[in-house]
Amino acid sequence: MTDTDAVVIGAGPVGLFQVFQLGLLGLRAHVIDVLPEPGGQCVALYPDKPIYDVPGVPRCTGRELTRLLLTQAQPFLPALAPASTDARGPGASGSSPYANVHLGQQVAGLARAEDGRWLVTSSRGLQWRARAVFVAAGAGAFVPRSLNLPGLQDAGNVHFHVPEAGALPWAGQHVVVAGGGDEALASVVSLANETDPARRPARLTLLHRREVFQAEPELDAAVRALIAEGRVALCVGMPTEAQVAKATVESLAILSPDETHHPLPLDHLLVRQGMSPKLGPLTDWGMALERKQIVVDTGTFETSLPQVYAVGDINTYPGKKRLLLCGFHEATMAAHAAAAALNPGSPQHLLYTTTSPLLRERLGVA
Ligand SMILES: Cc1cc2nc3c(=O)[nH]c(=O)nc-3n(C[C@H](O)[C@H](O)[C@H](O)COP(=O)(O)OP(=O)(O)OC[C@H]3O[C@@H](n4cnc5c(N)ncnc54)[C@H](O)[C@@H]3O)c2cc1C
Repeated sequence: MTDTDAVVIGAGPVGLFQVFQLGLLGLRAHVIDVLPEPGGQCVALYPDKPIYDVPGVPRCTGRELTRLLLTQAQPFLPALAPASTDARGPGASGSSPYANVHLGQQVAGLARAEDGRWLVTSSRGLQWRARAVFVAAGAGAFVPRSLNLPGLQDAGNVHFHVPEAGALPWAGQHVVVAGGGDEALASVVSLANETDPARRPARLTLLHRREVFQAEPELDAAVRALIAEGRVALCVGMPTEAQVAKATVESLAILSPDETHHPLPLDHLLVRQGMSPKLGPLTDWGMALERKQIVVDTGTFETSLPQVYAVGDINTYPGKKRLLLCGFHEATMAAHAAAAALNPGSPQHLLYTTTSPLLRERLGVA
């Protein structure tokens, strides 16, 4: 059980900015996301596409915006101890380098403790006790689309993400990438051009049900060039069965367009068929909903539950726009409302980062 001022559900762009705004107001926050890296839709759906309408940032990609938000929130993201003496057990913080960013786990439960605080439980059984909760869950928890073959869900050599940095488990081995869209083709191009031996596969096969891809023309052309050069093998067909032994997929049975079956042996399977958001457990937490969105008060962004706020794409109110800018405004308003509610005796003065010694101290700047 970790005690904290606030829990932020979702490490998308709005959840990250929420941590920053809470930090400015002196509130410590822990943020939890089911994905293995922060960034929400920006990283899961459009990491390399340009965004043109974030104030003061004329152009940046989804991944660049996430990096900027993490850099901005850095004063409030303490680094995890190197030899992680994390009492919550191995992997408690997912692949996150931050002590208060917990990745790879879904928030499953939200319940009121006897003392009025909120108990937040994750799918890994971790618990946080917080005075305020900020639901920044976007369109829901992003769950990768799988191949729907028995045995794949528990296999240790099936992957859905390519971590941006560090050694990869498939280095020097045969990787089959499944999919025919932007995600799959971008992974094939980046793995084929990987120069780091700790990340580079020995062999790459692209598995898709048709010869035609549904991807950007540049990606399509890049992958076809790799296939023509013999650096990537193309396997066209439908996987109908997985041969699994000791929780390891050894090969897939492929039904070819000419109706013949053949095996596709592999060392690792990287499924890149996109993500589908699942609202999941948050519909059971007792918040007022409207068309699967959380209803909020636009002065505070509080939900129908006290000290539970909803910000970003997950909320609804008259005139709601699902834009980054709107989510950032909502996170700012919600942080101020929570600070006032949690400190009823002390007046909340509006301070500027440019001139306030207190805010500059919190930011760690001279
Ligand atoms: C293709 C595309 C292009 C876009 N371009 C623009 C643009 O140019 N300008 C613009 O302003 N907006 C754009 N948007 C919209 C913008 O990306 C969203 O408004 C923004 O991502 C919303 O941020 P968020 O943090 O609220 O939600 P999200 O980005 O959806 O993040 C929510 C996070 O919460 C996590 N989560 C949800 N439920 C749980 C749970 N129970 N437990 C753990 N984790 C959970 C999810 O896994 C996710 O990571 C675009 C969207 C798309 C799809």
